[in-house]
Amino acid sequence: MNHVIIAGAGASGMCAAIAAARSGAEVTLIERTGLLGGSNTLSLVCPLMGFHAGGDQVVAGLAQEIVDRLGRRGGTLGHIPDPLGVAASITPIEPEILKQVYFELLRETPNLSLMLHTTLLSAQREQDRITGITVQTESGRRFLSADVFIDATGDADLAASAGIPFTFGRVSDGLAQPMTMVLRIGNVDLLRVRAFMKAHPDQFVLASNWEEIPYTAVSGFFDLVREARDKGILTFPRDRVLFFEGVHPGEVMVNMSRVIQCRSTEAEERTHAELEGRRQADEILRFLREQIVGFEQARLVETGMEIGIRESRHVHGRYTLSEADILRAAVFEDSVAMCGFPIDIHDPQGKELYWDETQQSRGYDIPFRVMLPEGLRNLLVTGRAISATHGAAASARITPTAMALGEAAGIAAALAENGNLETLDMKNLQQQLLRARGIPGRRFLGSVG
Ligand SMILES: Cc1cc2nc3c(=O)[nH]c(=O)nc-3n(C[C@H](O)[C@H](O)[C@H](O)COP(=O)(O)OP(=O)(O)OC[C@H]3O[C@@H](n4cnc5c(N)ncnc54)[C@H](O)[C@@H]3O)c2cc1C
Repeated sequence: MNHVIIAGAGASGMCAAIAAARSGAEVTLIERTGLLGGSNTLSLVCPLMGFHAGGDQVVAGLAQEIVDRLGRRGGTLGHIPDPLGVAASITPIEPEILKQVYFELLRETPNLSLMLHTTLLSAQREQDRITGITVQTESGRRFLSADVFIDATGDADLAASAGIPFTFGRVSDGLAQPMTMVLRIGNVDLLRVRAFMKAHPDQFVLASNWEEIPYTAVSGFFDLVREARDKGILTFPRDRVLFFEGVHPGEVMVNMSRVIQCRSTEAEERTHAELEGRRQADEILRFLREQIVGFEQARLVETGMEIGIRESRHVHGRYTLSEADILRAAVFEDSVAMCGFPIDIHDPQGKELYWDETQQSRGYDIPFRVMLPEGLRNLLVTGRAISATHGAAASARITPTAMALGEAAGIAAALAENGNLETLDMKNLQQQLLRARGIPGRRFLGSVG
């Protein structure tokens, strides 16, 4: 039985931990904060996007089990067509209930021990193996050893400490996508918002059938935002109001703030980002109440505990996922997950948002090799730090795919003989994944499924 250590209990780390333990490994999961769920709970990132491509569900397994468990607790509206037309489906979730679902899953999973308030400090390496990690706990530093390690920190902290080469943000200038402080706002009159959208469709990004969808998502109010920026009412680089209806009536999650040119891996810059995100949150709340129809009586329910980080390090793996792979709907022999989301780049330097508006994602494979860093045989990097270009990561970073990758990493770690991931039987891993994801023949493994 392999002992597997997973650093980071975000969406990807949680799925890795549960999948590894269910596959027979002894698992230790360490998390820097007191919460499970990473950006979805710490930073209120929702809805989930990218479960579907066209008419197909391309992410299932543990990710779908989490949605089902949310559903049983009234914590999701399920998969619904995206009224913005960016993705085939979106899945609104309630972060508060997601926290409970993750703790419920942990309680039910044998052989899984959790260390909260435990930060990975460094990794010890001997040639092509990690031998252990040093962590900071509430009761001092500890050294933990294992057969296989999974880096699910989002920032690739473990891999970077082990000397794995990485690219930060984009190659051209090292800039990453902006960070965002999400606001949960209540008491919003969405019927009036929708009436305004109907009267001013040129001011919004909208799917052709948006009016038939009983769910509100808003990407627009372009003129009002431009005017507010011209008058100095909004002082950060953003071209639109962006929000998504929450699970509770009259509540929305506002994804509008934008902190640019800050690196999450630099202490001073990250502190600045938190302060700037809160300053922008104040401006946004005032602007929405004063300028946006339906927000006259709006009240701030909460902001994220932490600013949301879209991008930081991309490790160099045995394969690097590229924009070309996404645009050609790539298939790979060693596919272990799929993604149904388009390339969606929030400008690292300014106010723009870029995505391919001509087509929704057709769905593409993600090969196992993007998780296996160069030069090491007992480490996998999952979630948003996989080996991908800046453009490819702008699609593959999405939560359902981070969950699917985590599930694959966890099963792989449990299966690896002597902890060696280089000699893993890929067909066996894929069969286990298909079993875990149910309904053989569906596209959960791209070409293989
Ligand atoms: C503003 C914003 C909007 C987004 N919008 C959407 C959206 O609409 N739909 C969607 O599906 N996705 C969206 N995403 C993307 C998605 O939220 C994330 O990319 C994805 O969930 C990443 O999951 P992860 O597990 O890889 O990383 P994270 O969620 O970042 O989790 C990493 C975990 O590791 C922990 N950790 C970090 N460092 C250490 C350490 N040294 N030691 C121990 N623990 C550590 C962290 O505390 C955290 O719990 C958005 C992201 C942001 C920031």
